[in-house]
Amino acid sequence: MAVVQEKKSLCEEWLKTEKKLLIDGKWVPAESGKSFETFNPATEKPLCRVAEGSKADVEKAVVAARRAFEEGPWRKMAAAERARLLYRLADEIEKRADEFAQLETMDNGKPVRESRWVDVVQTVETFRYYAGWCTKLEGETTSVNGKFFTYTLREPVGVVGQIIPWNFPMLMAAWKLGPALACGNTVVLKPAEQTPLTALRIGELACEVGFPPGVLNIITGFGPDAAGSAISNHMDIDKVAFTGEDKTGREIVKASAGNLKRVSLELGGKAPNIVFADADLDAAVRGAMLGIFFNQGQVCCAGSRLFIEEKVHDEFMSKLTKHVGTMRQGNGLDEQTVIGPQVSKDQMERILNYCDIAKKEGAKLVCGGESPKADLPNGYFVKPTIFDGVTNDMRIAQEEVFGPVLSVITFKNEQEVAEQANKILYGLSAGIWTQDIKKAHKLVSHVKAGTVWVNCYNQFDPQMPFGGYKMSGYGRELGKHSIELYTNVKSVWVNLD
Ligand code: ADP
Repeated sequence: MAVVQEKKSLCEEWLKTEKKLLIDGKWVPAESGKSFETFNPATEKPLCRVAEGSKADVEKAVVAARRAFEEGPWRKMAAAERARLLYRLADEIEKRADEFAQLETMDNGKPVRESRWVDVVQTVETFRYYAGWCTKLEGETTSVNGKFFTYTLREPVGVVGQIIPWNFPMLMAAWKLGPALACGNTVVLKPAEQTPLTALRIGELACEVGFPPGVLNIITGFGPDAAGSAISNHMDIDKVAFTGEDKTGREIVKASAGNLKRVSLELGGKAPNIVFADADLDAAVRGAMLGIFFNQGQVCCAGSRLFIEEKVHDEFMSKLTKHVGTMRQGNGLDEQTVIGPQVSKDQMERILNYCDIAKKEGAKLVCGGESPKADLPNGYFVKPTIFDGVTNDMRIAQEEVFGPVLSVITFKNEQEVAEQANKILYGLSAGIWTQDIKKAHKLVSHVKAGTVWVNCYNQFDPQMPFGGYKMSGYGRELGKHSIELYTNVKSVWVNLD
């Protein structure tokens, strides 16, 4: 307990100063002089004031990023030197792993054991993985008809705008910054207004380790008619990468039309998590729990539609509800907490509203469905919630709740579940639990989803691409696929005649 207190006070010192925007290597207030507060969702108390960047600040950041791209040392620098900077950034984050974990937990609410062992660890791994890519970006030589020497060059896209969400604030920053910087682009990053702090801390460390001015610019602020839309509309931004709601994704695509900037989108999901009767049920129960309650269900690939084969429905449900009953909910800073608060009041209310909708639709509430006000009077908590007797056409099964709310749908056979799994607008991920390898592979190729987990769920690694089918977006982040997002290919013809 004493250790937690000590680490918490370290963060609290940092939180005392108002945070500014990072433009051209300097920390500056917003042009408007405005700032906003970010809150701790476990206590509802303000954590820190942060500059409210707007269009004018995005303008300045893009000018700096453009200059850093065209004239600065960034592009001329040896690839190994860019790699060294990214490795150093990863090292500095790792040295402060506990501080980052605390900060992420205070800003977002997630349990510190997750911030520490998932978000921080994966952030460091992602920066290291892309540091490795700096020296592996290669063109090709080809043998065309005629007397020509032909080859391709892989070049950075230019100035990149990156708009990220609040559910994995530092990890989403790493997924976006790692490949963009490795490929030699310059960046204007906008963290989510609910959770700007860890991205700002990464920005501070990037300055300390020696990223040249203008290479990484961070503009905190809001989305619509503010810093976010200023990025997506900007005529001198060459590419925008976005993670968030599908509704916002559509706005970003429309805004990109002005200069036809390249867009990559990672949007919502409503993943089927399918449990066959022949599965290892204990493992599947753990997978179902991880699928829906990890990060309070605020995960775009959450396994929110749990399909259970009829034969094992009762046995599975009794195991599942027993486990849910043992989950400790509370302030994420407590190392024992396994489920924290939702990120904001808005999100809590949205989730509770979906619980009401589910009840009206005739779904059977098994547990949760409300805030634990008696035990936790402050904070934006929603009890872990399970609805049974859901049908795939109900709103609770079709719309993204983005909270700890599981919809249980019973199925009779493989064909029925295969059809229902794809009857959804989204296609981000899916889970399959069975010991029958043929059944698993058949379903893997049938299901329209960017990631399929077989006998596991919510597994991530910087080497494995992640992204959506259908309305879950386009483009693949992570792995070598992210390199495609952040580079252009140039074809070069040299006449040898
Ligand atoms: P949520 O509604 O869950 O907060 P959003 O998709 O609205 O999810 O937010 C994800 C990110 O997109 C945030 O950084 C937010 O500020 C930004 N954003 C929201 N609306 C817009 C918009 N119209 N244009 C650009 N960015 C936006």
